[in-house]
Amino acid sequence: MKNYDEQRAFALLQKIGFTRVAGSAEEEKAAEILKAECESFGLSAQIEPFEIEEGVVEATLEILEPYRKEYTVRGYQCAENTPADGLTADFLYVEDGVPANLTAAKGKIVLVNGFLRVPLFKTLMAAGVAGIVTMDGSLRDKRDETDLHQRKLRAQLRRFGNVPAVMVRVADAMEMVASGAAKARITLKNENRTLTSHNVMATIPGTEHPEEVISFGAHYDSVEFSKGVFDNGAGSVIIMEAARYFMQHPPKRTLQFNWYGSEEIGLEGSWAYVNTHKDELKNHKFMINVDVGAPILGSDGAGVTADEDLLHFVDYFFKIKGLPVKTRQGIYSSDSIPFADNGVPAINFTRFGSQGASFIHNRFDTMEFLSAEALGKTIRNVIVFSDEIVNAEVFPIEKKIPEKIKDEVDNYLYKKEMAELDKEEEKK
Ligand SMILES: [Zn+2]
Repeated sequence: MKNYDEQRAFALLQKIGFTRVAGSAEEEKAAEILKAECESFGLSAQIEPFEIEEGVVEATLEILEPYRKEYTVRGYQCAENTPADGLTADFLYVEDGVPANLTAAKGKIVLVNGFLRVPLFKTLMAAGVAGIVTMDGSLRDKRDETDLHQRKLRAQLRRFGNVPAVMVRVADAMEMVASGAAKARITLKNENRTLTSHNVMATIPGTEHPEEVISFGAHYDSVEFSKGVFDNGAGSVIIMEAARYFMQHPPKRTLQFNWYGSEEIGLEGSWAYVNTHKDELKNHKFMINVDVGAPILGSDGAGVTADEDLLHFVDYFFKIKGLPVKTRQGIYSSDSIPFADNGVPAINFTRFGSQGASFIHNRFDTMEFLSAEALGKTIRNVIVFSDEIVNAEVFPIEKKIPEKIKDEVDNYLYKKEMAELDKEEEKK
């Protein structure tokens, strides 16, 4: 018997299907909608604020030699300011920033492939570059549809140094390289400030083991330009439908439902939750995360950030139920990471689009490629699985994170690099 309503969930998805950037008024509006939805079926919810850092940034990039042209750019938030008249330097394309790319990079404005992650940024700082240009979008985008996303030099990166950084369209980057750009000027003016983002939280107390907590999580923020329905309005309404189900079928264990803000800028909502509620985490047995869902063409998956025993159980479980769910073991770049880092194992439910049939983190993440029926598949998986787990006679999932998963989490958080920095700072 079907015990969920995918049409209701899809209608809620439509309702929150507007751009909801971390710390914006729209993100807060979505939080209010989620809270009201909880209350519509008798579940009281709280909105918990937390602070995020942001910058208001103005930036320009001009190629000065061998041709002159100004390009549209987005400046990196929290990147270092240039002097008012700009930073002028030789321009060099250093590709992926491997050592042979960087022998002549000192003092130059360098163009790199892709985004700034810790290893690349660390290498660029060590090479003594004066400024950084990264690229965004795709050559196949129409020019007026290539959105330049706001990026931030995160605090973690800034520990290695700070220089002015801007982002250009990938088509413009290609033009610079093809035209032999040799000298450039960047201007960047950043004003740092603090914004407030929000988590929405609701609890259904357990009837038999109220001290044992299982948390459901989904982030409800989006990136700029995106309606964020596939990523991750879908997950938000999927756990809402699970909450509605468990209000009608009281669970043996306590269920905590969390809708996280600011996931897209570095899992900030779930970090805020685990840090604010650290003393409660000892009662948390397991986390059930849902991030991406509802593409008409796609497939369902479950990634286990836990022991292999759970992987096998989940795999057998869905086979026994005759439900198509691809299983794997490992971390997932989403709100289950802060839980795993705090020793709480997790499962990540996803429904990714098939090749070419879904879009993420851009203006093409819209309702057009989603359906209620497809959304319902993941709702069903989440409810069928969690109903079994939260009502277990003996809770079967051991609260431990195996070594290889710990390593994955540590790599994801660049713990080794951060520990090296700590050591260096101690020496000083
Ligand atoms: Zn997401």
